[in-house]
Amino acid sequence: SKPAVRVAVTGAAGQICYSLLFRIANGDLFGKDQPVILQLLDLPQAQKAVNGVVMELEDCAFPLLSGVVVTDDPKTAFRDIDAALLVGARPRSQGMERRDLLSANAEIFKVQGRALNEAAKRDVKVLVVGNPANTNAYITMKSAPDLPAGNITAMLRLDHNRAVSQLAAKAGVGPAEIEKIAVWGNHSPTMYADYRFATAKGQPLPKLINDETWYRETLIPTVGKRGGAIIEARGASSAASAANAAIDHMRDWVQGSNGRWVSMGVPSDGSYGIPEGIIFGVPVICSGGKYERVKGLEIDEFSRKMMDKTLAELIEERDAIADLLK
Ligand code: NDP
Repeated sequence: SKPAVRVAVTGAAGQICYSLLFRIANGDLFGKDQPVILQLLDLPQAQKAVNGVVMELEDCAFPLLSGVVVTDDPKTAFRDIDAALLVGARPRSQGMERRDLLSANAEIFKVQGRALNEAAKRDVKVLVVGNPANTNAYITMKSAPDLPAGNITAMLRLDHNRAVSQLAAKAGVGPAEIEKIAVWGNHSPTMYADYRFATAKGQPLPKLINDETWYRETLIPTVGKRGGAIIEARGASSAASAANAAIDHMRDWVQGSNGRWVSMGVPSDGSYGIPEGIIFGVPVICSGGKYERVKGLEIDEFSRKMMDKTLAELIEERDAIADLLK
């Protein structure tokens, strides 16, 4: 059989990982013929809980799971890895200012970026899930100068999947029939779910839905605030759907998206007026283990306004942590 791939996952004792690790071990990310070794990182005080999760992984007797490493040391976790899913992040505690949250996370991702730079395979694929995901990815990228910058990405896929699902319901089609959705910008309520190029069964989706007011005033805010709505309903933040989106993001990057558009947060190449290096959600097509941005899309006045708003937030986040990168 094939040699195992090594994948590091951080925040291994957390809610998202409680779904994510089992999906990876089941072959949902790298494929049903690809053995995997999980290299699990979490804080010292979470080691016991991680070991409990590992006991459950063992009890699943996954045929593809050929090893598990548990550690609180980033370099050990990232040694020789092919992929990293950076899920662990500092949650906002009561009374914590946004700026404090940004800097607490900046410290974590600076350390992890440096460790990736030192220990990971040179073509490692990195997905940042922990919030603020785009800015955490930016810090990781800046702290790992020897890795290809484009291999550090942030998760917009949950926003993408949420938009697809809501639009499919409105249009009365299945989610798989919707193509060419783009989610631009920050993984935050400012993200911009763009349906202008979308089709359903080959028909232009805006025409099929024929309700621009619903799109602007209901769809966009519903997708933006979905995370909050789930906390309100479930009493806990989304975890299984976030894990599913992380699998979708990495699986498509590794195995290809079959010509379909997917949204990924990637360092800007300057296109669409986004300053170079900012980690911004854009539509991409994946094949051969690489992603290609969808280029040359027209940006109308409404879209420009939406993209400028989410960009302004990202620039503000970048500037707030600039000192910590020195
Ligand atoms: P979760 O597993 O629920 O979430 C982890 C991160 O994913 C959070 O930053 C969360 O953001 C983010 N996230 C991104 N998208 C979503 C989404 N759609 N829905 C929900 N969350 C999303 O957090 P837990 O608190 O259960 O677990 C975190 C783990 O990380 C703990 O085991 C902790 O010990 C570990 N940790 C590890 C660190 C390290 O290895 N250095 C550092 C800090 C923590 P948000 O907070 O905005 O919901």
